[in-house]
Amino acid sequence: MLLCSRCILPETFPGIKFDRKGVCNFCGSFKGQSDLEQQKREYKQKFGDLLTVLTGKGRYDALMAYSGGKDSTYTLYILKAKYKLNVLAVTFDNGFISSRAFTNIQQIVERLDIDHIIYKPRFDILKKIFVAGSKEVLFSRKTLDRASTICTSCIGLVKSIALRTALEKQIPFIAFGWSPGQAPINSCIFKNNAFMIKAMQEAIKRPLQKIAGDDIAPYFLEEEHFKMTDRFPTNISPLAFLKYDESKIIKKIQELGWVPPHDTDANSTNCLLNSFANKVHKEKYHYHPYVFEIAKMVREGVLDREEALEKINRPEDEQLVKSVKKRLGC
Ligand SMILES: [Zn+2]
Repeated sequence: MLLCSRCILPETFPGIKFDRKGVCNFCGSFKGQSDLEQQKREYKQKFGDLLTVLTGKGRYDALMAYSGGKDSTYTLYILKAKYKLNVLAVTFDNGFISSRAFTNIQQIVERLDIDHIIYKPRFDILKKIFVAGSKEVLFSRKTLDRASTICTSCIGLVKSIALRTALEKQIPFIAFGWSPGQAPINSCIFKNNAFMIKAMQEAIKRPLQKIAGDDIAPYFLEEEHFKMTDRFPTNISPLAFLKYDESKIIKKIQELGWVPPHDTDANSTNCLLNSFANKVHKEKYHYHPYVFEIAKMVREGVLDREEALEKINRPEDEQLVKSVKKRLGC
C-alpha cells in the first residue's frame, strides 16, 4: 500500500492526494514547526489568563474526563500538581475498561487527592449501541476519518455526560487528555455555548436514540441544561499546547503508581473494546481509525515515523477481539 513519504497516511485515506515526491496533501498544507510552536505558546498564555479569571470561585475548578489512560492520567497530574486546580475526575465506564486501568485510576486519584466519580450507564443500552456501531454508519461520513463508529459513539457519551455534570455542578472547565494528534491546536480551548451544543448533540443523540430509545436521555443535556446559558464551561485539551513526549509522560505517571496495562492494544491504555472497534473499521474502510491522529503526530514531530508505523501495523489480539464479541453477543 502506498503511504505518504513524510507522515504515514495511506492511499486508502479519504480525500488523500500525493505530490510527485509522494508527500500527501495533509503534509503539504502543514505550516511548519515554528508556526505551530508559536500557536502553542499563544494558547498556553490564553489558558493561563482564563485560569486567573475563572478558577477559585466554586467547589471545583475543572472536571477531568478521566479514562485512566496515559494521556488523561498525565493531564490530571498537570492540572493538579502544576496548575494547582481543584479537579473533579469523572470516569465513563463503557463496560470495557481494562482491570489494570481501573486499578491505575484508583491509584492515581488517591495519590493526587482528587474527588472521583465513576459513571456507568446501563450495559444493555451500551451493548445495543456498540453492536449497531459495528454494523452501520451511525454518524456523518466525516467522523470516520478520525475514529471508528464505536469510538465516536462512546466519546459522544463521554463528552455529553461531562458537560451535563459540569453544568449541574457549576464547574468552569472541562479537561480532556487528547494527545496533540487528537486535538487540533486551534480547538484546544473551546468555550461551549448552548446553540452549538444543541446542534452537536443532535448529530450524536438522534442516531443513538433510534437504537436505544429514550433511555439514553440522562446521558445528554435536557431542556433545563440549555437554559443555563451563563454556566457553559470551557473545554480544554492541555496536551495540545504543552510539550508532548510520550516516553517522558509514561515515566512521570509511573512514578505516581500508574502501570501500563498488558491487556489492551497498541493504541489504547485503558479500553478493551478498542481492538474490536479498530478491526471492524479496518475491514470496512481499509485504513486504521487512528491513522489520522498518529500521522499528525509524526508530521508535527512528536512521534517517530517507525514507532507510528508499529502502532498502526500491529495486528489485533484475536483472543481480545473474541472476548469482546462474546460480551456483545456478536
Ligand atoms: Zn503526509
